[in-house]
Amino acid sequence: MKKHILVIPGDGIGAEVTVWGRKALEQIALKFDHDFSFDTAQMGHEAIENCGNPLPDETLDKAKLSDAILFGAVGHIKYDLDPSLTVRPEQGLLKIRKELGLFANLRPILVFDELLGASSLKPEILKGTDILFFRELTGDVYFGEKQLSADRNTASDLMIYHRYEIERIAVKAFEAARNRRGKVCSVDKANVLESSRLWREVIQEVALRYPDVQTQHLFIDNAAMQLIRDPKQFDVILTGNLFGDILTDEASQIAGSMGMLASASVGDKMGFFEPIHGSAHDIAGKNIANPFASVLSAALLLNIGFGLKKEADILTNTISDLLKEGYRTLDISTPETLAKNILGTSEMGELIIDKLKELFPKPYDHVT
Ligand code: NAD
Repeated sequence: MKKHILVIPGDGIGAEVTVWGRKALEQIALKFDHDFSFDTAQMGHEAIENCGNPLPDETLDKAKLSDAILFGAVGHIKYDLDPSLTVRPEQGLLKIRKELGLFANLRPILVFDELLGASSLKPEILKGTDILFFRELTGDVYFGEKQLSADRNTASDLMIYHRYEIERIAVKAFEAARNRRGKVCSVDKANVLESSRLWREVIQEVALRYPDVQTQHLFIDNAAMQLIRDPKQFDVILTGNLFGDILTDEASQIAGSMGMLASASVGDKMGFFEPIHGSAHDIAGKNIANPFASVLSAALLLNIGFGLKKEADILTNTISDLLKEGYRTLDISTPETLAKNILGTSEMGELIIDKLKELFPKPYDHVT
């Protein structure tokens, strides 16, 4: 398969982990004789520093020419400490999602048995959890009209959804449920919010087209509670931008660490694949970030982006094997983890690539 992949490492640990996602893709291309070409581009704080724009035109042009994007993260402490800065790294991310028409964020929550002890929740509650989130990405309060009164005493963000926005992501979620355990749970706040009442109405209409899929509706407050009370009850969770943002971070704790979760943002044409974590200033530059989420992002790129499930499974299984062998980064270490098995970002990255090379008896000398 011939594909062109744009790599946008971004800021902080984004750059530290994305290198391993890319190297993993290079190994897969070699093994399966795929013709993957790569390019890189800037976004976020680094791009603001270099050219004053969090999403330079050059990056957007390259993105539009690619078949898929492997992204790291954007963000820098200076913007977190100063909300009045008007040019901000996350504007690059919001703009590229909008420009590329990426309206659905898919976030699988998979629990590796070896990490059951790394979560703050009880292992027996987590074991066997397998949830696929569909979070709407281009509507809601994030994109509705924003206002701040002249005296700075009143502010508002409009929560707005259009029927077509709800319908197109609902179709994707119901289609996915058909290939999983056949259940969709739609999350809203229809008892209070008008936009949620429209959301529920459209979901109910789409559900009629999928009689083989069981549909459930939960209010966001109940869903947030159910997610940690009994996560195994869920198959596909479908929700809006704001509720999805919060619920998916809550769900990251089910998997033990932000460093273990990847996501795919898709539209009608191409996909954007990234770890769920940010640029993590607190650990940036220390070589302790977990690179698994970037490699799992590469797996999603192969599976969802290019339909290469076998290749994607090889990456996921490699991570599972390393966990079984006891290797951990600091964020997923438990009291039982042996000190010698706690690796830095680059050591864990090298180990992943070594494992992939061992699996594939082919010459790799030309891969750097
Ligand atoms: P974060 O996800 O960067 O970090 C949250 C916590 O998880 C931190 O304690 C961090 O050390 C830990 N963590 C995250 N990824 C990890 C990894 N791979 N390995 C080990 N530990 C990991 O969220 P935050 O601290 O709220 O935000 C930091 C910056 O990132 C902010 O500037 C924010 O705007 C930005 N951000 C960017 C994105 C994105 O680019 N998609 C997403 C969220 C936050």
